[in-house]
Amino acid sequence: MRAVRWHGKKDVRVDNVPDPEIVNPRDAIIRVTSTAICGSDLHLYDGMIPSMQAGDILGHEFMGEVVALGKGVTNLRIGDRVVVPFTIACGQCFFCEKTLTSLCDNSNPADNQDIAEAMMGHSPSGLFGYSHMLGGYAGGQAELVRVPFADTGCFKVPAHLTDDQVLFLSDILPTGWMAAENAEIEKGDTVAVWGAGPVGQFAIRSAFLLGAERVIAIDHRPGRLALAAEAGAETIDFEDVDVMAALAETTGGNGPDRCIDAVGMEAHGLAIDNIQDRAKQAIGIGTDRPHVLRQAIVACRKGGTISMPGVYGGLLDNLPMGAFVNKGLTLKTGQTHVHRYMQPLLERIEAGDIKPDVIISHRLSLSEAPGAYDDFLNKQDEFTKVVMQP
Ligand code: NAD
Ligand code: ZN
Repeated sequence: MRAVRWHGKKDVRVDNVPDPEIVNPRDAIIRVTSTAICGSDLHLYDGMIPSMQAGDILGHEFMGEVVALGKGVTNLRIGDRVVVPFTIACGQCFFCEKTLTSLCDNSNPADNQDIAEAMMGHSPSGLFGYSHMLGGYAGGQAELVRVPFADTGCFKVPAHLTDDQVLFLSDILPTGWMAAENAEIEKGDTVAVWGAGPVGQFAIRSAFLLGAERVIAIDHRPGRLALAAEAGAETIDFEDVDVMAALAETTGGNGPDRCIDAVGMEAHGLAIDNIQDRAKQAIGIGTDRPHVLRQAIVACRKGGTISMPGVYGGLLDNLPMGAFVNKGLTLKTGQTHVHRYMQPLLERIEAGDIKPDVIISHRLSLSEAPGAYDDFLNKQDEFTKVVMQP
């Protein structure tokens, strides 16, 4: 089959590789019909996530049709049309039973789990196409993909909804939603969202649905800010405006009630090849971008909440902890517990509350992946979201 593989920093190729096979009784094989490139994939493309190996198949946002099933899968049939959450979860451990599926204890048997544990204390769940630290699973930017724990990892979708309408249930729609939920929004709140990428776009729309009166989107891509404005957000271009002053002024000096960091490791393009360099970047050496999380902590109103869907990979020093403590802030974060949100968000899509396909800017074939990665990184105005059809 053909698959998009990582060969090194800024080196993504479409290669012929062996088809995946059933390895465990709870596996399924999916023929992929649609797959997207995520902002998280850009962290891999930029070489910011450790323990990628040349030849790893990328992709964690995908859907398709079940073409093979292990003997232990009970609730799927060949031919079922499914969306697959990017977090791999057994469905049975302590964490899965609490619907904290991105913290599953049984889905990260990685050879490099020691790196994960050294960095994080405990290992999080495995992810598709996201390094050997997170399970070393082949991703879904391919014609076929193996889905472990398929009975929890495959979410059946109704025939009347198109791929474009349901594909983002795999990651960024639940991620934007959980970001807004984690922000603990109360009716009438003003919510600031840093990053008007796909995650930010869904966080903005979710914030309104959860009761925000005002949402302020911060980015420097006019096209993405325009899309945020279409959803009703006020916008700040951080290249033209002093973000901190603008946020203070527009909230009568209080600051936004809730702040969402939908950017993460924003220093795309830095040469970061090892942990030491990443640690330097974390304290601001070599980056000329304002640091989003620090801005969020300082801008937020006293007693407010910071929600951080944005992904960070290593150390992040120089956080204004004094402000954090003395302002009595709350910080909530995490990889998204996707499984928990798929059914309620499917109902939102069916009811027309959320139209996920508004963010799609390009539909390409799998063979166009190398250019698509480059464009999604460098022409973010035009390339809001790329969907590929293998
Ligand atoms: P993206 O790269 O498409 O969008 C990021 C946006 O942030 C861009 O539009 C960029 O212009 C903007 N930005 C950069 N620096 C900024 C700054 N200083 N201030 C304001 N905006 C700035 O990525 P995405 O797909 O929207 O994902 C956003 C983040 O969410 C990434 O870190 C990604 O890894 C993360 N993510 C997390 C989860 C999760 O489970 N927690 C899931 C998916 C994605
Ligand atoms: Zn993603």
